[in-house]
Amino acid sequence: MKILVDRLKDSPTAFHFSETEAWRADAEAMLEELRGPLAAPIEADVRAHRMGQDIYLEGELRGAIELECGRCLARYRQPLSEPFRLVLTPAGSRVPAEPEAAQALARDGMCLGDELDTGWFQGYEIDLGGLFREIVTLAIPVQPICKDDCRGLCPRCGADRNAGDCGHGDARPNSPFAALERLRTRGES
Ligand SMILES: [Zn+2]
Ligand SMILES: [Zn+2]
Repeated sequence: MKILVDRLKDSPTAFHFSETEAWRADAEAMLEELRGPLAAPIEADVRAHRMGQDIYLEGELRGAIELECGRCLARYRQPLSEPFRLVLTPAGSRVPAEPEAAQALARDGMCLGDELDTGWFQGYEIDLGGLFREIVTLAIPVQPICKDDCRGLCPRCGADRNAGDCGHGDARPNSPFAALERLRTRGES
C-alpha cells in the first residue's frame, strides 16, 4: 500500500491497492468491527500527483464491514464506498506534537493532521495503510442500524420484532415517543 514519492508527476498517477494480511491484522487489532466472516476485503483506488512541494491524493476506498445492529443486535454487512481527498505537505525538520502522529510519520512516511484532508510526509516512500484504517474507522456509524425500518427487540419480551409480531405493540425503544410513553406510564403508576 505504498507510493514512491520520486515517481509522482504533475499529472495524476493511478494506483490500486488491496488489503494485505499485515494491514488487516493491524486494522483488526484496532477495530473489532473488522472481524467476522462476512466482511469483504478492503480495496482502494488512488490518484496521486505533485503540486509544487506538496502531494495531492484522491480516491475511493471500498469494501464491507460487519457491524452489530444497535436495535435488534443482529450482525449485518455494511458496504463501504468512501471517497477521500487530501494534501500532504513536506514535514521537513518538523516533528508532529502528537506522539502517535510522530510515530506514523517515522513508520509510514506520512501522518494525518487534525482533519482527514491534510497531512505531512517525509522520505521517499509513503505507506497509505494508516490513512485507509482511519477512513474505515470514520465510516463506522456511532449507532449502527441494520436497515432504516429495523423494528428492534421488544422491550418487554426481547423477541426480534423483525421476525414477527410478539403481540406487545410496536413502540420503538429508540423513538422519542417511546421514551415519552414510558415517562407517562411511570407518572401514572
Ligand atoms: Zn436491526
Ligand atoms: Zn414482546
